[in-house]
Parts: sequence; structure tokens; C-alpha cells
Amino acid sequence: METPPSLIGMDLPAMQTALQAMGVEQRSVRMRSRQLFSWVYNHGTTDFDAMTVFSKTLRDQLSTAFTLDRPRVASMQVSVDGTRKWLLDLADGAQVEMVYIPEAKRDTLCISSQVGCTLSCRFCHTGTQPWVRNLTPGEIVGQVMLARDALGAWPSADIAWNIVFMGMGEPLYNTDNVAMAIDVLCHEEGLAVSKRKITLSTAGVVPQIERVGREMGVNLAISLHATTDAIRDVIVPINRKWNLAQLLETCRAFPGLKNARRITFEYVMLRGINDHPAHAHQLVAMLRGIPAKVNLIPFNPWPGSGYETSTRRSIQEFAAIVQRGGYASPVRRPRGEDILAACGQLKSESTRPKRFVASRAPKASPSAPALHATPQQGITAQHIPPAAQPSPQEQP
Ligand code: SAH
Repeated sequence: METPPSLIGMDLPAMQTALQAMGVEQRSVRMRSRQLFSWVYNHGTTDFDAMTVFSKTLRDQLSTAFTLDRPRVASMQVSVDGTRKWLLDLADGAQVEMVYIPEAKRDTLCISSQVGCTLSCRFCHTGTQPWVRNLTPGEIVGQVMLARDALGAWPSADIAWNIVFMGMGEPLYNTDNVAMAIDVLCHEEGLAVSKRKITLSTAGVVPQIERVGREMGVNLAISLHATTDAIRDVIVPINRKWNLAQLLETCRAFPGLKNARRITFEYVMLRGINDHPAHAHQLVAMLRGIPAKVNLIPFNPWPGSGYETSTRRSIQEFAAIVQRGGYASPVRRPRGEDILAACGQLKSESTRPKRFVASRAPKASPSAPALHATPQQGITAQHIPPAAQPSPQEQP
């Protein structure tokens, strides 16, 4: 027998429709759906029998038609610095990772939006895993609920984590589901997450960026990582589809952009690739006019990456130039490195059946995700701007 669908991920109108279909009277269906919504998302109830506001009959009907399943924990690792990484099993057996990072000011939960990724950024471990599929709204919301289960953080109103879409996948290649998930996460009668505490990070799916500001109303982070198209074309290949000029123009027009709501530009520090002082000056020049903050991320190594982290000195020098240029430029301390939980280290074993390859991959999927990305030797700090061309197998 097939397991019924989970209620997790359903919004209020969908719950109302479901209750109507179960024969709940028209005059009480609104109230009942709000009660259900609150039991599911505010109390985090995992058992329909705990919903004692409902008759036994309705609880039975609900538990026949639905589950309250979250993704299941396949394994959990705890880093020496307290960072936790979960490998999660989804209903169809696909797996994603999720990371919880305790911090002095406010803890951060880093969630995934896809199984695998289409982008193949050269320095990113997830990029070596082929795209398998998009997560559903329920699987995205389910990650947050699972983290709350694991950390005993119910009811919802008591906690205030930052939630970042910086796990596996490109959220703006799954925009509809991500938007629906954000809608559910932020509903005040449910999980009540504040939009200010959610950050969506994109490698630069330019046509979708505006929706982040206008429709989702959450913070935007851009994985910039380079100051010239020649470098970015190689390390963040989506740049060949939407280049730096297009990306920055879209950032300038980002709805709601002001000093109190700055865009975060992430910049991974790759030794000899993008960490020359001249790059820092270029960065300041290109961000001019955009309320922004720069997050410098020392490259987190993973087996076979072929890249090295910039030296402490060059990172500090880079940060100082950006700072003097008028932009906050904190250097991110790697978290959970010992358990491969740091930025860009997430990966699962999930693969997709061959027959999906042609029919399901989103349009912008690169034809052949590189299995072992290597740094492009042609690009060094001496070449600014370098004339490095992508090698033939990298052409989209
Ligand atoms: N696809 C989205 C969401 C992933 S966010 C995006 O690209 O923004 C993960 C962040 O970690 C991105 O900024 C990514 O470029 C960065 N990253 C990837 N691999 C990394 C690595 N090995 N070391 C440091 N940062 C890395």
C-alpha cells in the first residue's frame, strides 16, 4: 500500500480544501484549517492523536489521508566546533544534507533546495554530483521542522535562527517550490520565521532574482567569486549564460534594496585564482552604488578539488582593500570542516536514473557535469584581466 502524502509543506488554503473534502462543515472549515495549520507548524505535532481539538473521527480521517512525515535522518555528524550535519532520506530514497551552525549571535540553519546541482561550479563539492531533482515545498519546510524536532525547538515562536538557502542546489532553479516553502515558513500562525532571517543564495540565475525581492521578500546573497567574466566563466560556469554586467545590473535594480537591506556578495578565496589585490580593487569598483556587504569565504577543500585556500595574508589584504572601499568584508570562519559541513562541501550519493537525464534536467543544465574539477592553470593573479578561455569540454 502506498504511504499517504505528508501534510508538511501544505499551505493554509490547501489544508482548507483537504478538510472540506473530508466533509468538515462549511461554517467551521476556516477555523478547523487554522487549527490544523497551527498544530502542524506551530506545535510541530508528529501525531494526529495529539490534536485533541478535533473529534476522534476527524483525527482518524486525517491520519488515513495524510502523514506528518518529515525527511528521515540517515545519519548525523557533530563537528568539534559544534556544527551538526544531517544526511536526510527523502520519501523516494534521494538524499540531501542539512547543516546547523551554532553561533554567538544567532544560530544558522543551512538547508538544501535540490538533490545535486546543475551548476558545476569548479570549486564546489556539490557541483561534482549530478542534478537529481528539485525538492518539493514539503521537503524544504520539512528540513526546518526536522531541525526543530532534533533541537527540541517547539513551539515555533521561541526560536530565532537564521535560515539560509546555502545547502545543496540552486534555489533559483527551483524558484516556485522555494517561494511556496518560504510562504509556509513565514506564516505567523505556523513556524513564524521572520523574512529578515532568511537568506537565499544564488549563483546568478538573473531572470529569477527580482522575484526574491518582490515576491519572497527575503535577503539576497550572490555567489560572485570573481571580478572578470574570464575568471567567472570558468569557476562559476552559469556566468556564460548571464555575465557579470547582467548580474550586477539586476542587483542594482533589486526591489527593496537600501542600506538597511544590503545584498551579500559571497567571494570564495582561491589561491592564485581570484585573490590578487587588483581583484579586490576591481570588486570595489564593480559594486559601486550597490548597498552591499562582501563575505570572504576561505576556500574549503574537499577530496580531489585541486584548489587551494588563499593564504591568511592575502585574505587579510583583500579584506582590507574592500573595507577601505566602503564595504564590510568579514572573513567567514570555516565551520564544521572536519565533517565536510562547510560551504560547498555538501554532497550525497544520490544519482538519477539514466532516463531522466534528457527529459528532466532544467534548461540551463550543463551537458556534462565535470566529475573532478581542476583549477584552470591559465588563470593566475598575474593575468588581470586574464584571457583564459574555457577549455573545449567546458563549453556549454
Ligand atoms: N547554488 C547557490 C546556493 C549554494 S550556497 C549558490 O551558488 O549561491 C553555497 C555557497 O558556498 C556558495 O556561495 C558557493 O559558491 C560557496 N562554495 C562552494 N564551494 C565552496 C568551497 N569549497 N569553499 C567555500 N565556499 C564554497
